[in-house]
Amino acid sequence: PSSTPTYRRVLLKLSGEALMGDSPTGIDPATIDMMATDIAAVAQSGTQVCLVVGGGNIFRGLAAAAKGMDRAQGDYAGMLATVINALMVQNALERHDVETRVMSAIHMSSVAEPYIRRRAVRHMDKGRVVIFAAGTGNPFFTTDTAAALRANEMDCDALFKGTQVDGVYSADPKRDPSAVRYDQLSYMDVLSKDLNVMDAAAISLARENKLPIIVFNIHAPGSFGAALRGEGLFTRIV
Ligand code: UDP
Repeated sequence: PSSTPTYRRVLLKLSGEALMGDSPTGIDPATIDMMATDIAAVAQSGTQVCLVVGGGNIFRGLAAAAKGMDRAQGDYAGMLATVINALMVQNALERHDVETRVMSAIHMSSVAEPYIRRRAVRHMDKGRVVIFAAGTGNPFFTTDTAAALRANEMDCDALFKGTQVDGVYSADPKRDPSAVRYDQLSYMDVLSKDLNVMDAAAISLARENKLPIIVFNIHAPGSFGAALRGEGLFTRIV
């Protein structure tokens, strides 16, 4: 029996790292364009899409704190980094004729709308892709937690997490050849085995609200659409 769900509305989390492609830092235009092609096809097929973008390719508060920077100040800088990425993603999507809105959790009215939940829902109902920037707007959080938060607020059917590999493994498959890939995991498995998927705050938020998380490889062309159709390799966390 086919258990492939059909999705009405989903959230895709793109880490800053995903936008780098093979570049050592910053944003790779070809990589971002490939993702935009994939997202545009999904949006044009009628599934409502919103995005949370990370900022780790530009700045991470935790890394800066390790070198002596005030943590909260570093985190604010990190949140601003996500706004830069959001504008780049917006531009890439608009070149594929997708209508978009950037909504920022930190007010920045010249470049993005302020985040207002009901307005975000309205944009999506009109077929616009909403890009959530500046994480949760609070230091000491991550964009993974922002993704779980926004997905719950937007009443999304699932949170898609695009990563560097095709799902969740028992160990890092790039370092450990004996690592096994899981098709499905429970939220508790992820927490108790301390699997490196999303931070515990994000997993807990998803668990409380029964929000499925689908982890897939963002670097394969068309992989977001495929994961939505239940094709290819991915790990489902339920
Ligand atoms: N950040 C924050 N609050 C949030 C989201 C992000 O303070 O709600 C900061 C934090 O410093 C983080 C940086 O923004 O290191 C970039 O986000 P993240 O590391 O989650 O990006 P990703 O790993 O997805 O690229």
